[in-house]
Amino acid sequence: MTQTLTLRRPDDWHLHLRDGAMLAAVAPHSAGFGRAIIMPNLVPPVTTGAQAAAYRDRIRAALPPGAALDPQMVLYLTDTTDAADVVAAFRDGIIRAVKLYPAGATTNSASGVTDFDRVQPVLEAMAEAGVTLCVHGEVTDPSVDIFDREAVFIDTVLDPLRRRTPGLRVVMEHITTSQGVDYARAGGDNLGATITTHHLVINRNAILAGGIRPHYYCLPVAKRESHRLALREAATSGDARFFLGTDSAPHTDAAKLQPCGCAGCFTAPNTMSILAQVFEDEGAVDRLEAFTSLNGAAFYRMAPNADRITLTRRDTPAEYPTQITAGAETVTVFDPGFPLYWHLEDQ
Ligand SMILES: [Zn+2]
Repeated sequence: MTQTLTLRRPDDWHLHLRDGAMLAAVAPHSAGFGRAIIMPNLVPPVTTGAQAAAYRDRIRAALPPGAALDPQMVLYLTDTTDAADVVAAFRDGIIRAVKLYPAGATTNSASGVTDFDRVQPVLEAMAEAGVTLCVHGEVTDPSVDIFDREAVFIDTVLDPLRRRTPGLRVVMEHITTSQGVDYARAGGDNLGATITTHHLVINRNAILAGGIRPHYYCLPVAKRESHRLALREAATSGDARFFLGTDSAPHTDAAKLQPCGCAGCFTAPNTMSILAQVFEDEGAVDRLEAFTSLNGAAFYRMAPNADRITLTRRDTPAEYPTQITAGAETVTVFDPGFPLYWHLEDQ
């Protein structure tokens, strides 16, 4: 039986497009999203309005003609970020948000914040101007167990930061725990949370049970099953605080498959087919549009995209490549482990 689903064009509120040959390879796979928040963790990171504008130009050049994607640029917060530059870049329409990485938390985060006292004036200027802070919510203290780093971050960093910066709009990026869900839910109008595609699908067994599977290794690392179920409940609830940020994060297979492999899942090509299945499984197909196309735009105080996409449920699975090529290298596409009967129609 064929079933169709028409949605406002989705947005991706957390996306890694990288640069150079990787950008050229992966940008077309996100071209069907409307807006995307573009992560600034390049080498070197995107830290000034001028760098963000130049990166936006490189992204636009990498997109195919007619692409829907409108990149929303983000500055990487460092101990030396200039508040006036942030506010000017926001007012000029160059950036949409600022990203907080605790130093050392994830890929290319060595420039992240080491001293929150030093960035406090920037956060206060952002609160005043209405600039959103996107937060990678994990502590980097090596004494904290990796599976506890999000919950500890909420208690020891995020909650104090929000209390001393009233009015600051914050997105908890890629939440992975029930503690993250609970905190976002209780956080009031200035708090939102993105949830990735892959954290709705895998728990930590996917990485570690029956052999190590580097393509499921990401940061924040997937947690136990009870947390995955909490994320699915939140994403499919229709609650406006929760919205899609795929955190699609391509790495070459060579970088993933080595003694110290990189963190990241590349979900851009098949995200909408996977999400439609997840929402169908949860009996919530009618709430997919809120998660992918409405809630995030509302948080960022933007109108939903005017145009629409169609997903069709067919009897035969949609086929996605298992790998794409990037220059001379390959990048493996996230395998959800189930067939994808929802086909994204050509728009
Ligand atoms: Zn990310």
